[in-house]
Amino acid sequence: MSTGKRIVIALGGNAILQPGQAGSFAEQLANVQVTADQIADLVAAGHTVIVTHGNGPQVGAILIQQEAGRAQVPAMPLDACGAQSQGLIGYMLQQCLGKSLRTRGIERPVATIVTQAVVNPDDPAFQHPTKPVGPFYNEDWAKQRMASTDERWIEDAGRGWRRVVASPNPQRIVEAQAVARLVETGAIVIVNGGGGIPVIEKDGDFVGVEAVIDKDLGAERVAHDVRAEVLMILTDVPRAAINYRTPQQRELDRVSLAEVEKYQQEGHFKAGSMGPKVEACRRFVANGGETAIIASLTQAVEAIAGRAGTHITR
Ligand code: ADP
Ligand code: MG
Repeated sequence: MSTGKRIVIALGGNAILQPGQAGSFAEQLANVQVTADQIADLVAAGHTVIVTHGNGPQVGAILIQQEAGRAQVPAMPLDACGAQSQGLIGYMLQQCLGKSLRTRGIERPVATIVTQAVVNPDDPAFQHPTKPVGPFYNEDWAKQRMASTDERWIEDAGRGWRRVVASPNPQRIVEAQAVARLVETGAIVIVNGGGGIPVIEKDGDFVGVEAVIDKDLGAERVAHDVRAEVLMILTDVPRAAINYRTPQQRELDRVSLAEVEKYQQEGHFKAGSMGPKVEACRRFVANGGETAIIASLTQAVEAIAGRAGTHITR
């Protein structure tokens, strides 16, 4: 039909909420509309787009609501909160993308799939929960939660106490077949939000677990499953850099797999931010993907044309 690429786009936190904003629905919708325009430009250029996204602030807000409402309605577990956030963000993207596409004269279905990602119960991450979720609380609260539940809490650099959960590796996307078929119909699919709802396989069923999956590593699984040619991670910096925030900082333009692996070993990419993005790109290309891109959210169209971002190829 067209010469376009099949692209999995991973949206970072800034695509939905800007730093300093309170996070009202109207604020988030306005941010998502700006993001949707970028995505619609890629669709208008003939590309097949599959969208995934982070959910940190949104799931954080849902967790606060669980605590605040605990006396009136039962609090939901973390996996159910993740599902809620996928629905919320998917709804905003469906509304905004639909609008952006119609503005460009394109009639295409936009659909969100509530997505589960299988993790290994023996993943070493379960022994060392490191990923903070939800808001900061005081010491009394944290100690009381640790005494009455099996939750783990840590003191976070003088800012207060936060719950930490495991961040296991995503192995596969449960709904991969459904996603691939929807994509074939021409739909724009929003999938695996927040890295996917982590589930373990048990006697042929899937059981939600109290963990969070990194959205960039989850995006790599999606890209693999839908046989995407490009994995594009959109964030708030124009490129991945080596010697980041030092006088020797150098932004990476085009890099090979071997160079990326060398830079990873030298420790240039921070765990929890640029680290998982670079690792997702490395895995994608190592698994046979054509190109992985890390670029600014405002430069998606430029990046796919090769004029912006960090491009990683074999
Ligand atoms: P997102 O919400 O898009 O996933 P993150 O905050 O997790 O965004 O990751 C992007 C951040 O990574 C940038 O704002 C930047 O400060 C940080 N970062 C850490 N190391 C690097 C690096 N080597 N090169 C570029 N950015 C880096
Ligand atoms: Mg991040």
